[in-house]
Amino acid sequence: MKIHEYQAKEILREHGVPVPQGEVANTLEEALEVAKRLMLGGATGVVVKAQIHAGGRGKGGGVKVARTLDEAETYASQILGMQLVTHQTGPSGQRVQRLLIEETAAIDRELYLGIVLDRAQSRLVFMASQAGGMEIEEVAAKDPDAIRKVSIDPAVGFQPYQARELAFALGLKPTQLAAAVKFMRGLYDVFVATDATLLEINPFITTKDDKLLALDCKLTFDDNAMFRQKGLKELRDLAEEDPLEVEASKFALNYIKLDGNIACMVNGAGLAMATMDIIQYAGGSPANFLDVGGGANQQQIENAFSILLSDKNVQAVFINIFGGILRVDTLAQGVVQAAKNLDVQVPIVLRLEGTNVEEGRQILKDSGLAFEVGDTMLDAAQKVVAAAARRTGISTGAAH
Ligand code: GDP
Ligand code: MN
Repeated sequence: MKIHEYQAKEILREHGVPVPQGEVANTLEEALEVAKRLMLGGATGVVVKAQIHAGGRGKGGGVKVARTLDEAETYASQILGMQLVTHQTGPSGQRVQRLLIEETAAIDRELYLGIVLDRAQSRLVFMASQAGGMEIEEVAAKDPDAIRKVSIDPAVGFQPYQARELAFALGLKPTQLAAAVKFMRGLYDVFVATDATLLEINPFITTKDDKLLALDCKLTFDDNAMFRQKGLKELRDLAEEDPLEVEASKFALNYIKLDGNIACMVNGAGLAMATMDIIQYAGGSPANFLDVGGGANQQQIENAFSILLSDKNVQAVFINIFGGILRVDTLAQGVVQAAKNLDVQVPIVLRLEGTNVEEGRQILKDSGLAFEVGDTMLDAAQKVVAAAARRTGISTGAAH
């Protein structure tokens, strides 16, 4: 689960990690009130920051430094409501519905700090780099030595000597060392306390008067830990998520939207992966990843169908099921029911194996509906790719 920068900074503040003074604003009026308060409190300027669940806002025009209240008003009215496009939002961008208004910081150096789980080592890794303010993925690709990493033994946690090692790698001054150790310790505490999967401070800055500040913060939580993080659950902002994915999560369906035109309905994540691969192999492109789960019932199949068909890009549906706990006849009944109830217009291709497969095939045949059934997974994939291509040809009128 992702949260906004202003929410992440609130959590940092609670754990004693220094962040700039600031407040979130939902309207232009609120933004101006906050700006006024900060200026009256002695700020020499304010930063107007778009709050969306994506990075790269600075380059996209979503972060502006204002020196006067007039400038703050200009920037706030420009950014609030804009469709902000960054390298992480996709070409259609994300609408800005909130702003974070903060006092400006007198930046001396822009650095990077991050904590991630290294799955290969089963340990958290704390990273530091002098190349802050840039895309860290680019730094990692071009100059991996510019990132210093320490791996944390879960039995003893993050140690002060490790924080000092990172502080030295960042080239911090001896006078900044104690504050840096405390700062990093605070980040580690946040990570553990919130069951995070990623915490990034980019940039982590030193100021002209030698202070340390988290100027930006990205914090992502482990969805599987939300059952014991009731307070954090409330930070979820559904407006930032894909509406179909939100709908699917209400039905406990594991759905992720992709940009192809062949919808997939599958039971099991491994089979979902294999299905996406074989669609690509047959020359097509998957519209989604949808796992109905091992124990899905008829209603769940119908829910899944309605989600798949709400995606306007879908030109064909590929149902690839291995009947285990979910028996093939149950699935077939669900599919027939859904196709009738939802008045499905796109072709449906199935590949069925497992428990009660013969009964399942019979149900499809008896339904009087036009399903195509593949003999093998590859055969079915080829059929669905061909079906989607035929429809795309029709809908675009591309005959030559
Ligand atoms: P991102 O582009 O989404 O990662 O947003 P950031 O919060 O990292 O802001 C982008 C850039 O704006 C930072 O790397 C800074 O260079 C700049 N910036 C942000 N806040 C301030 C500030 O208070 N003062 C100044 N001078 N620049 C800032
Ligand atoms: Mn940033």
